Formats: sequence, C-alpha cells, structure tokens
Amino acid sequence: MGCRIVLLGMPGAGKGTQADLLAQALGVPHVASGDLFREHLEKGTELGRLARSYIDRGDLVPDEVTIGMVAERLSRPDCASGFILDGFPRTVPQAEALDRLLRERGVALDAVAYIRVREEVALARLAGRWTCRQCGAVFHTLFNPPRQAGVCDICGGELYQRSDETEEAHRRRLKVYQEQTSPLIDYYRRAGLLVEIDGEQSIEDVQADLRAAVEVACGR
Ligand code: ADP
Ligand code: AMP
Repeated sequence: MGCRIVLLGMPGAGKGTQADLLAQALGVPHVASGDLFREHLEKGTELGRLARSYIDRGDLVPDEVTIGMVAERLSRPDCASGFILDGFPRTVPQAEALDRLLRERGVALDAVAYIRVREEVALARLAGRWTCRQCGAVFHTLFNPPRQAGVCDICGGELYQRSDETEEAHRRRLKVYQEQTSPLIDYYRRAGLLVEIDGEQSIEDVQADLRAAVEVACGR
C-alpha cells in the first residue's frame, strides 16, 4: 500500500531533516521542491536561471513553474507507491493542483503533518544550517553538528551555506510563509488530513511522533 505524505511548516521547522528520516523508514522518495530548484541552479538550466532571483530574495517561485517541476517529479516510477513531499505545496493554488494531479491518478494524500515551531526557533535553526552539496542532507553547527566540520556524515560531500541563508532572506521567507503558506493549515484541516506535530522537540522525538502519526494514516 502507498503512503503519500506532505510535510508542512515554516522554513527552519525541520521538514527536510524529518523527511529524510521518514523516507528512509518507509522506503519512499523524499521529494523536496527546494532541492529540485537547487539541482536546476547547479546545472544552470533555464528553469534554474528563472528561479534564482526569487530564491535568493526569499520569495516564492511562480506557481506555474513550480507546479510543472513537481508534477514531473511525481510522475516518475519511484513515486508510484508513495512519497514524502517537503516544501510543496506552499500556496493554495499549488495545493489545488496537487489534489487534481493525484485525483487524476486515482490516489490521494494520506496525511499532512504540520511541524509546528515558533518563529524565533526557526530563525535560530536557519542561522546555523549547513547543507551537503552532494546529497542535500542538512546539519546545524550547534543542534546537529556533522562529525567532521564541513563534511557530510552521510556521503562525505562538502557542506556549504545556501545562497539564501542570509538574515534578510530568512526574515523575508518567514513573512512569505505567514502570508502565502500558513493558509494551507486550515485548507488541510478542513480536508481532515492535518496532523499537528510539536517541532520544538529533539530530532529523534519529532521523528517518533511523526512515525506514530504516519502509522495511523497509512496503516503501517
Ligand atoms: P526546513 O526543511 O523545514 O527548512 P531543516 O530540516 O532544513 O528545516 O532544518 C533547519 C535547521 O535546523 C537545520 O540546520 C537542522 O539541522 C536543524 N534542525 C532540524 N530539526 C531540528 C530539531 N528538532 N532540533 C534542533 N535543530 C533541528
Ligand atoms: P526550501 O529548500 O524549501 O527552503 O526552498 C528554498 C526556496 O525555493 C524557497 O525560498 C523558494 O524561493 C523556492 N521554493 C521551494 N519550494 C517552493 C514552492 N513550493 N513554491 C514556490 N517556491 C518554492
């Protein structure tokens, strides 16, 4: 049976960290719209060039571009039996497009896990985040340090600070989240899919709560 989960929460809530662990446990892919954009940036594609200015400012990339990119990723065979979506949807039109796309395939989301943290917690987490250039894993200088500074524990890749890791972009991203993404909390609550998770616990405890919620939603 499939397991289709969306992780919702403000930038810095811990979505990427949790999605990696959950995807591994369930054996389904972790699909992160931010990672897909960063692959385009690295490769210098046309989509990457278009997205760069939005990303560096902390704004959202326009819906039609984002929806097309994620829809293509979800149509690949590895997503047929489920996925963990992280960073998408981020607007109501994106959520509606996702509903349509899944309906056309005769499937539906099993749950939307809202990882709840306060803004000051998210800002402190964003301020110390380091990302692996190779596999996209994230670390934190204080809260989740790599065994060796600058080196990814998982794949040995180089750790870097993303080009949108400036205080100005962080504040902009949190504002954009409040304005454009937080309405999705009600959207999914009304759909009966929302599960709230306390994101201010340790990485392990957040994961345990998430796993328990997913077991109920997906029946495993
Ligand atoms: P998001 O994908 O929601 O933007 P990330 O997963 O990238 O968030 O996490 C943001 C930062 O916070 C990273 O540096 C990560 O190592 C750290 N982090 C994630 N979860 C926790 C947690 N439960 N406690 C402390 N730090 C965390
Ligand atoms: P993330 O890695 O999720 O923090 O995303 C990094 C940046 O990519 C965001 O600040 C946006 O500029 C862009 N982005 C990622 N996902 C989306 C989305 N679903 N809609 C629009 N822009 C997105």
